[in-house]
Amino acid sequence: MSLCTIGVDVGGTNIKLGLVTSSGRIIAKTNLITKSYIHHPHHLIDALVAAIRILIKDNSKRIEDIAGIGIGLPGLVDVVRGVVVFLPNIPGWRDVPLCVMMRQKLNIPVFLDNDVNLITLGEWRLGIGKGYANLVCITLGTGVGGGLVLNNALYRGEAFVAGEIGHLPLNERGPRCNCGGYGCFERAVGNHFLQKKAAGLFRKKHIRLEDVYVLARGGNRRAIQFWDEIGTHIGNALVGVVNLLNPRLIIIGGGVASNYRFMVQAIRRTIKVRAMKVQKEMVAIVQAKLGADAGILGAHILVKEAILGR
Ligand SMILES: [Zn+2]
Repeated sequence: MSLCTIGVDVGGTNIKLGLVTSSGRIIAKTNLITKSYIHHPHHLIDALVAAIRILIKDNSKRIEDIAGIGIGLPGLVDVVRGVVVFLPNIPGWRDVPLCVMMRQKLNIPVFLDNDVNLITLGEWRLGIGKGYANLVCITLGTGVGGGLVLNNALYRGEAFVAGEIGHLPLNERGPRCNCGGYGCFERAVGNHFLQKKAAGLFRKKHIRLEDVYVLARGGNRRAIQFWDEIGTHIGNALVGVVNLLNPRLIIIGGGVASNYRFMVQAIRRTIKVRAMKVQKEMVAIVQAKLGADAGILGAHILVKEAILGR
């Protein structure tokens, strides 16, 4: 395939778009601010179409040079029908036939998937997970997501909602989660809860997680202890994942993963103490490699594999 692809990573805050060569190199990027287009799905779709046209034109490409567009979305996506079933954090998105709508406007094939699945696909094919047949990718941020590669294929589940690591129940009587459950993993390590915990610990209402990172880097013991505790929570959730799925690799990604070096020892220690022998001896914990580009690159792979097969 000598044609390019366009990868789109729709997030609750930003939408990242990239023009990607057939070899997986991003040659141009652009951004949209999500909240400018939340009044109606049509507004967001029109903005995407306009941004894609500009991306193509500004890089001296034509519509015919683009093999396909891959789009990752933060919610429930029917991958087969090309329909966005529901986006919890972007209002109005229910049963939107995004593939057909975009294709009609641009005359380029369009493929959809969940955003975390595409990050996982990116890290698996082009990042730190290259060559592994069984891996789990977790993304730490406001939400905590998970992507599964099992037996050399992305595992999506019956209704494309597998991998909800953030909603593993860690505690039978824990706090209520917005998924309807109790004591979910996300309630222990989601950004909002970490911020609250940091505010209490440092007695500063507006302390940011970045500040706690800087403190840890400077050797502040309380900050180091803070990230170590988070690492222990993550490790506990991963004990279940390791025992259940027997992955070779667990990739830690997402915004909070910038604190990886302060959490990784606790993650490894917890798995070593609590997971089952065979599983824990073969699993490696690693940091994601592609950073903010993972979603765009995963979308590129989605298109490439949909069109060419593997
Ligand atoms: Zn939950």
